Amino acid sequence: MELKITNLNKTYANGVQALKNVDLTIPQGMFGLLGPNGAGKSSLMRTIATLQAADTGSIQLGDIDVLKQKDAVRRVLGYLPQEFGVYPKVTAETMLDHIAALKGIANRKERNEVVSSLLNRVNLYEVRKKNLGTYSGGMKQRFGIAQALLGDPKLIIVDEPTAGLDPTERNRFHNLLSEIGENTIVILSTHIVEDVTNLCQNMAIICLGEVVVEGNPSSLVQDMQGKVWEKLIDKQELDQYKQNFNVISTQLKAGQTQIHVFNETEPDSSFEASKTTLEDVYFTRITERMESLSA
Ligand code: ADP
Repeated sequence: MELKITNLNKTYANGVQALKNVDLTIPQGMFGLLGPNGAGKSSLMRTIATLQAADTGSIQLGDIDVLKQKDAVRRVLGYLPQEFGVYPKVTAETMLDHIAALKGIANRKERNEVVSSLLNRVNLYEVRKKNLGTYSGGMKQRFGIAQALLGDPKLIIVDEPTAGLDPTERNRFHNLLSEIGENTIVILSTHIVEDVTNLCQNMAIICLGEVVVEGNPSSLVQDMQGKVWEKLIDKQELDQYKQNFNVISTQLKAGQTQIHVFNETEPDSSFEASKTTLEDVYFTRITERMESLSA
């Protein structure tokens, strides 16, 4: 099964065009949707999740017409929104049992089995009798995933899932997601480039409502290999470098500023070749897009 988005457009009542002619094909596995804040990621995720309408375009999930057959989508969708509330005085086990009943698992024995197996899978079985209000951020996220996994979904959408998680929790959450991605379409919407590098077989970068690049993270990095150059400079020199070179990013390194410059050939002998990363791809594409607008 694949998700095919064709020519999707959305303008909000305040005149903001959040999605512009979005075309994307998302196969099974982990798909990273990367973009700065305000790029349109949540607008796209909400539209796929049938929570808001598009103005024009189509979305096809296998043989389901997503914009028209909302109930059919909801039966095969697991959605973990950016922010979700939990009932603080209810235990994880009770809550999942309740949601499982709502999703149509009427048989109590079957429900118990499904709930136990999910709690085990997200590593919350030991704390299943604790109230959700006592859970840490990472535990809540894993509970969110357990809830999204109920009903054996074919499409899972997770919106900015690792914000606020400590490194251990983030790692654990990543492992869980990639396991799920083995036999499901998982769309991971994020502004954290590293998450996509580590997890996704396919990705797209979106900026100001438009898809600026789509592909496999390693191939995108490979395409730029040998075209990124680095140099340590003083912070005061940054403006000057920005005027003379195509500076795609700056980073502090031991108190000094390191710049990354995109150029087909070595800008001058004071630069060193830099090992290209997905972050370079991301910043180059975003900068190009922004500059094309201000030109
Ligand atoms: P992202 O998830 O990438 O941060 P969003 O989809 O939330 O981006 O937002 C895209 C653009 O649409 C932003 O300019 C945002 O301010 C605007 N926007 C989002 N939701 C609404 C809404 N309900 N009404 C009006 N504008 C909105």
